[in-house]
Amino acid sequence: MSDIEIAQKANMKPIIGLVKERFGIDAEHLDPFGHYKAKLSLEYVNSLADKKDGKLILVTAISPTPAGEGKTTTTVGLGDALNRIGKKAIMCLREPSLGPCFGVKGGAAGGGYAQVVPMEDINLHFTGDFHAIGVAHNLLAALIDNHITQGNALGIDPRRIQWKRVVDMNDRALRKIIIGLGGIGNGYSREDGYDIVVASEVMAILCLATSRADLKERLGRIVIGYKADGKTPIYASDLKAHGAMAALLKDAIKPNLVQTLENNIAIIHGGPFANIAHGCNTVTATKTALKLADYVVTEAGFGADLGAEKFIDIKCRMSGLKPSAVVLVATVRALKFHGGIAKEDLNQENLPALEKGFENLQRHYQNITQHYGLPCVVCVNHFTFDTEAELDLLQSKCKSLGANCVVSKHWAEGGAGAENLANEIVNIVDSRESGCTYVYDENLSSWDKIATIATKLYGASGIVASAKIKDQLLTWDENYGKFPVCIAKTQMSFSTNPNLKGAPSGHTVEINEVRLSNGAGFIVAVAGDMMTMPGLPKSPAAERIDIDDDGKITGLF
Ligand code: ADP
Ligand code: MG
Repeated sequence: MSDIEIAQKANMKPIIGLVKERFGIDAEHLDPFGHYKAKLSLEYVNSLADKKDGKLILVTAISPTPAGEGKTTTTVGLGDALNRIGKKAIMCLREPSLGPCFGVKGGAAGGGYAQVVPMEDINLHFTGDFHAIGVAHNLLAALIDNHITQGNALGIDPRRIQWKRVVDMNDRALRKIIIGLGGIGNGYSREDGYDIVVASEVMAILCLATSRADLKERLGRIVIGYKADGKTPIYASDLKAHGAMAALLKDAIKPNLVQTLENNIAIIHGGPFANIAHGCNTVTATKTALKLADYVVTEAGFGADLGAEKFIDIKCRMSGLKPSAVVLVATVRALKFHGGIAKEDLNQENLPALEKGFENLQRHYQNITQHYGLPCVVCVNHFTFDTEAELDLLQSKCKSLGANCVVSKHWAEGGAGAENLANEIVNIVDSRESGCTYVYDENLSSWDKIATIATKLYGASGIVASAKIKDQLLTWDENYGKFPVCIAKTQMSFSTNPNLKGAPSGHTVEINEVRLSNGAGFIVAVAGDMMTMPGLPKSPAAERIDIDDDGKITGLF
């Protein structure tokens, strides 16, 4: 059965009753969106402040491959398994973007018997958060062009505007556009472009904001561009945009509650890119879950070099969250891909390729245990094609590394298939104090922060950049010295070359662009070509998505 067929057979319970039954939350604190989705009021969230926190478990993965690793699936499976063994657990996930949904990846609500539902709603529009974020972003864009048309009292240099427009769709034709054509009545024409909503700084801000006041503050701090001197920043607050933007986000800031196939609660809230942003769900959602449950399982985007690093160095550092353990998801198929096997041949047993590809897992494991200072369990997300010999080899390789390794069958069996993983995690997190180490000190220069990540985690020999970029970083260090850095590089490799599989070493990381995300509070260092507006593939998933006369949707996966 396909993911959507399984999801449509789910025995969902009305969310209001379910949340009351599990966590004693009264209906008055919930804004229902239909029967199976609800937003939790910020007043209720704030009322939890004095409660003790549960334990935070991060699910991350080896470097992604086209074979798929299953972080979301594992996050849901582990959460269901924790509940099955009698623990109070909540999962915190990111909201799916429509871009990948209609492109290559399909939905992002887990898979097999480890899914969150209603799957169609979660993947299509959900509770409208992305719409609100897109509109808040585009309001600022409209205010910028209007300000210039109305006389440009702030002296915005139209050639130095850095605030593009956004839409939640993969649409490469919008990457570079000319706006304002058609004469005086239509304003000033200038070069502009679109990013996908998940790449918007507003998304990153919503995910890091800790209150309505903090949200508004951060929105006001957004740097939209510069004056003609090229140095003096223009802030969103100069345009008096932040109040209206925050108003548009009045509901988007509230966490969304849904359930898994096994009727356990998941919070799905926020979904920034893991390249030019930090790739984690909202701080609000994670903190709320920690107050409500004893164990919180959350996922971060891409592999542990990007998603987990930013989870720790950006999200946890900024918000004071203290993780307790990491689950590193790997699959036999993906490791064989890292060992040089083509996508079409991954279903055949191949021990030498698995052994070779293991070096990718090993590097991630060592980064997590040594540089993040967190205990790590390797979760082999079991595929039906995996052979006994392959699973044995993988387990013995993990053993020689000193790594706990659990073969987990949550995709096929739901929570029951991940009980071993759940028990292993409980043993670990119950016997240690929460907390991790950051990869770099916040007082280092931005350059040294980037170099530290590249050499410690990526195995690089060093970083290079033009004098102009180095200068820019030095200037920013004076004003924004304590900001963490957010490296945007390919997720496919430890290097900046997506084709270098496994665990490359001694490469150089070239930084070819830097951006200031002043509202979010980090400096983005772009290494390689970074796509902030993806395109659709030759055969987009959209061609196979349909709805029948009864309103039943097919083709999502
Ligand atoms: P990630 O979060 O790492 O991007 P997902 O959990 O979204 O990955 O899974 C990607 C796809 O792979 C989903 O369509 C899911 O159904 C599928 N998948 C995950 N685990 C398995 C498995 N064990 N067997 C078969 N398919 C799987
Ligand atoms: Mg995912």
